Amino acid sequence: MATLQDIVSLAKRRGFIYPGSEIYGGMAGFYDYGPLGNELKFNIKQSWWRNMVQMRDDVVGISAAIIMNPKAWEASGHVGTFSDEMFKTSVGRTENDSSVAYLRPETAGGIFVNFKNVLDSMHLKLPFGIAQIGKAFRNEINPRDFIFRTREFEQMELEYFVRPGDDEKAFDKWVKERVAWYKSIGLKNIREHEQPPEERAHYSKATIDIEYEFPFGWQEIEGIANRGNFDLTAHQKASVKDLAYFDEETKEKYLPYVIEPSAGVERIMLAVLCDAYTEEDDRVVLKLHPTLAPYKVAVFPLLANKEKLIAKAESIRDALKKRWMTAWDDRGNIGKRYRSQDEVGTPFCVTIDFDSLEQNDVTVRDRDTMEQKRVAASDLEAYLAERLTS
Ligand code: ATP
Repeated sequence: MATLQDIVSLAKRRGFIYPGSEIYGGMAGFYDYGPLGNELKFNIKQSWWRNMVQMRDDVVGISAAIIMNPKAWEASGHVGTFSDEMFKTSVGRTENDSSVAYLRPETAGGIFVNFKNVLDSMHLKLPFGIAQIGKAFRNEINPRDFIFRTREFEQMELEYFVRPGDDEKAFDKWVKERVAWYKSIGLKNIREHEQPPEERAHYSKATIDIEYEFPFGWQEIEGIANRGNFDLTAHQKASVKDLAYFDEETKEKYLPYVIEPSAGVERIMLAVLCDAYTEEDDRVVLKLHPTLAPYKVAVFPLLANKEKLIAKAESIRDALKKRWMTAWDDRGNIGKRYRSQDEVGTPFCVTIDFDSLEQNDVTVRDRDTMEQKRVAASDLEAYLAERLTS
C-alpha cells in the first residue's frame, strides 16, 4: 500500500498537487493543483456531473454565488449557532457591521435558497434533485493529511427532494447509487459507515458515510444524510417566503424532505491516487480508471530529429486529440517514456517508428499489462475507444 509520503512526492514531482503559494513558504490548509491534478479533478467532477445530472431525468444542476446574503447562514445555523463562523469577509469599499459576509462553508445553502426559483422555472414534480459543484471554505478546522482536510476545497452536492414518507426509501436508493458510482470510477475498496444518533447532526434522521481506507486509516469521503425538512423550514421562516411545494396529486402543500449526498472532490482525488499507486519491479504506475486518467493516450515519435517520423506522429496526435486529452513526448528512449507515462496513469502509449512509415501502423502499449501490439493507423481510434470506454 502507498504511504502518504509516496503520494505527496509523486503529486509534486509530476504536476498534480503543489503546496499553496509555495515560493512564499506555503499556507497551511491550501493547495494548488498543477496541470495533471487539474485534469484529474476535472475528470472526477465531470464523471459525477454526468452521472448525477446529465444521465438523469430527475436532477438539474445550478451554480450559485460563493458569497450569499449573510441572513442565509443565520437561518441555516452556521452563523451564531455553530462553532465555525468561517471565513468572514467584507463586501464593498467600506468595512462596517453591515458589510460583513462569509465565504460559504458548503454548497448546499445555494441550492436551498434557489429551491423555489428552480421549481418555478423548470416545472418540476417530486421527487427531483438539484445538484451543484463548487468551492467551500472552512476556517476552524485543523488542516491535516495533505489534501484530506483543507481550508478551501470543492464539494459535489445533491439535494434530492421527496414527499415526506418517501424519504427512507430514497435514502437507501441514494446510498446504493453513490456506492455504484465509486465502483464505476474504479474505487472498490470502500465501505459504508452508519453514523449512530450521537454522532450525527441533530436534524438528521439518518446518515451513512462512504469511507475509503487511506494510509492514515478509514475515513469519510462522502456523507449521505436524510435531512428531513430542516433546511427548507429554516429558510422559509427566516426569509418569510413561502417555499412550500403544491402536490397536484394529493392537493396538499408541504415542505419536501431532502436526501443529501455530499462529497469532496479533493478527498476523492486523494483516495483515487492512493488506490491507483502501484510499485512494480522497476516502475511506479498509477492504475487510474481511464475515465479519470489526465492523459488518455501519449504519442511518441521514435526519434525527435527525423522529419518524416515527426510529421506522421503529429498527424496521428492531431486526430487523437480531437477526442482525448493526449500527451506528446519525444525525449529519451522509449522505455523511459513508457515509465514516465506509467507514473501519471496514461492508459495507452502510441509509438511511431520507421516501419510505421512503410506499413501505416503504430505500436500501442498497454499501461497495465505492458503488452505491445501493432495496430493499423486506420484502426487506432476504434481500438483505443473500445478500451478507454470499457
Ligand atoms: P469531516 O467530519 O471529515 O470534516 P464533515 O462531516 O464535516 O467531514 P461534510 O460537512 O459532510 O463533512 O462535507 C461533505 C464532504 O465534503 C465530506 O465528505 C468531504 O469529502 C468534504 N469535506 C468536508 N470538509 C472538508 C475539508 N475540510 N477538506 C476537504 N474536504 C472536506
